Amino acid sequence: MENPFLSGKLLIVAILISLHTSGQTISHFKKHTAYLSSDELEGRGTGSRGAILAADYIAEQFDAIGLEPINENSYLQKFPYPGQDQLESNIVGVIPALQASDESIVFMAHYDAYGIKKTDENNDSIYNGARDNAIGVAALIELARMYKTEKPPLQNIVFVATAAEEFGQYGAEYYLENAVYNIHDITICLNIDGFNVSGPREDFFVMPRQGVDFIDEIELIAKKKGWIYRPPDWIDGMNTNFDTASFLRRNIPAFTLWTGNQLKGGGDAEQTDFGAIHSPDDEMNDNWNWDGVIDHLELYKAISDYFLSKPEGIKVTNPELFNSK
Ligand SMILES: [Zn+2]
Repeated sequence: MENPFLSGKLLIVAILISLHTSGQTISHFKKHTAYLSSDELEGRGTGSRGAILAADYIAEQFDAIGLEPINENSYLQKFPYPGQDQLESNIVGVIPALQASDESIVFMAHYDAYGIKKTDENNDSIYNGARDNAIGVAALIELARMYKTEKPPLQNIVFVATAAEEFGQYGAEYYLENAVYNIHDITICLNIDGFNVSGPREDFFVMPRQGVDFIDEIELIAKKKGWIYRPPDWIDGMNTNFDTASFLRRNIPAFTLWTGNQLKGGGDAEQTDFGAIHSPDDEMNDNWNWDGVIDHLELYKAISDYFLSKPEGIKVTNPELFNSK
């Protein structure tokens, strides 16, 4: 017979371990985001010293976690950027599949931001890019850490921090021309661009929803975790200005996941001032809610776990939608 006292104790231990793990994840998240969005990194503009420092930081994190580098001794995938002497660098690390496989899942987050521009009314000229997309890169690093602690995956997992997204998606294009595994065997690309910092949510949506056939599956996986799928109309107008477009126009499934506005337990969230993106105000601040960050991360993880166990069957039905104008 089961000992109720013992099983109660085991449950408490399990809860404590999970609280401890999410506490550690939050502290990692804060550390990555604070550094990448600091003024020292100059808004991580293309060609800046800050962009080099950011690339080095991400590479150090990948190394500490134990990812395999794309090159023998380096995680940096360097490429030329028009009109600039300094090379740009994607940062690429891999967790190889348990058994040799061509199939891969790609996690991607751009680490560049707008750099230093005209001074605004608050005398600030550094576009720190905290929500867009220092915190997305933090999520990329923490997903790598989570997968590295699990048993080896059934498909290869590639983690790509892309450079030069904001002005032309150059990093994603270069990655696809020089990918670690055959791009026609990429099961799906999970892109992270912006992250929920305004508290746990009940609803979420996927970009894009047009021209692809995997939305129903994502909706189902999320529903099992208690999420309600609720896409806003405006997403259909923004298919091509993201790193995912580089994948989709090549017939490779790819998406970005955003949370909606409905609080857990009902009711709309209040609009809080988080600082507008693409402005000097996109900085980390004390209003950020880290429980919502963990929820958002877990939703990404649940969806990637599903596609890792299911290497085929989804596709891009209308790649022409993702060609640039
Ligand atoms: Zn972005």
